[in-house]
Amino acid sequence: MNLNHSVNLKEAIRFHGHLGPYLVLGILAGELAVRLLKCKKYFGLKVKVWGADKKPKSCLIDGLQLSSGATYGKGNIKKFNGAQIKIEVLNELTQKKIVLQFKDALLKKLEEIKTHKDSEILARELYRTTPSQLFNCELITNND
Ligand SMILES: [Zn+2]
Repeated sequence: MNLNHSVNLKEAIRFHGHLGPYLVLGILAGELAVRLLKCKKYFGLKVKVWGADKKPKSCLIDGLQLSSGATYGKGNIKKFNGAQIKIEVLNELTQKKIVLQFKDALLKKLEEIKTHKDSEILARELYRTTPSQLFNCELITNND
């Protein structure tokens, strides 16, 4: 399976400071949303994130910024309180939206992490995983 990542893992680690599963999940979620919505990185999209306000979950946000190009500096990514992680990406041009949530199997894997080493191993495994196996994905159009 050839997974074409727009974000190189080494560059992501250099930016974020360490490797962890939530960083990788942010990368994958942003890549998936950009691809499915056919939006351009950096501009023309808005990202909202729920339930990622504390470390390590908040590491997700750095991955999302890297892969979507939506950044705090430009103001097109925002985080909100929530019991569970949910990511919403809006293509401003088409007004299509995508909502991503973690699948149960993924949540279970994240819960099983005991050590720092476990988290790095899982992070690398996730980077090689097809995103559709990790996220529940709902496409919302205004024309419905
Ligand atoms: Zn982190």
